Amino acid sequence: MSSVIYDRVAFVGLGLIAGSMSLAMRRDGLAGETVGTARSAETRSVAAEINLVDRVVDSAAEAVADADLVVLAVPVGAMGAVAAEIAPHLKPGCTVTDVGSVKQAVFDAVLPHLPTGVHFVGAHPMAGTEHSGPRSGFAELFEDRWCLVVPGPEAAPAAVKRLETLWTALGSSIGRMEPKHHDLVCAVVSHAPHLIAYTMVGVADDMQRVDEREVINYSAAGFRDFTRIAASDPTMWRDVFLTNKDATLEILGRFTEELFALQRAIRTGDGDHLFDYFTRTRAVRRGIVEAGQDTDAPNFGRGTAKE
Ligand code: NAP
Repeated sequence: MSSVIYDRVAFVGLGLIAGSMSLAMRRDGLAGETVGTARSAETRSVAAEINLVDRVVDSAAEAVADADLVVLAVPVGAMGAVAAEIAPHLKPGCTVTDVGSVKQAVFDAVLPHLPTGVHFVGAHPMAGTEHSGPRSGFAELFEDRWCLVVPGPEAAPAAVKRLETLWTALGSSIGRMEPKHHDLVCAVVSHAPHLIAYTMVGVADDMQRVDEREVINYSAAGFRDFTRIAASDPTMWRDVFLTNKDATLEILGRFTEELFALQRAIRTGDGDHLFDYFTRTRAVRRGIVEAGQDTDAPNFGRGTAKE
């Protein structure tokens, strides 16, 4: 049985990530009280109706009052404005964290607003779905996943440890990183793959010669998985690419070089190149399955292609 880690937790933003954190905290008794707010009256009303947090309030200023932990769970591009709004209302000595998918840009936008004595500790749960909004959260989202923790320059070690204790209690393993390194790692494992999925689905959509029904009916696992990724929230992903520009462009540059090499191997009939390349990438997949980060069940554990 877990015990209370923070007496009062405030969520600014009540979507997939905040909702999942709040539900898990309630299930396991990790917070004395959870308070939350969102930008729109509609989200606040849904959150209250489904009891997503203990108390829904109308403004971020109200939410953070007397909170021991403040969780910024809005798109990366909105973090700075939210930080400016809450700064005068923060409890001295509290911890402010974010769950944004990019870290250097969040540091740049948030840190200048925070008063001395407030501990800023960034966090990025490497867990998510293509769904968003207050109804999309579920308590198990972070189980057996990683949470990347990126401490701010002034954060006390005890504040960092306490946030890590929370993420461990939510079911995640912890990886500590510097903001720029975080952004590069995420460009490789998440941001560039999302852009490639968006592109592939866009190409299929553009191909007038392929009937829409053909794309839907015959979509084998490969394309179907691209469409799942490409259904992710447009605001969130717009902000990710605008704020993790350098690392994403670096990875896309390398990706393009590799793609040209594969293109050339296909044109010249260089089967050895293709075979060796695919053998290497298959080993990467095996490593992910062995690390328990995915299932090796055929078709990702889905029973039939229609599910
Ligand atoms: P979400 O379900 O779309 O929820 C976003 C929340 O932010 C909503 O409550 C929304 O309010 C609010 N919001 C949107 N724009 C805003 C603005 N300009 N100012 C103030 N509030 C605003 O998003 P999410 O998936 O939970 O993502 C939240 C954060 O987690 C993002 O920074 C994202 O990068 C990060 N993250 C996401 C995933 C993922 O897979 N989804 C994984 C890891 C980290 P309304 O509903 O009222 O519009």
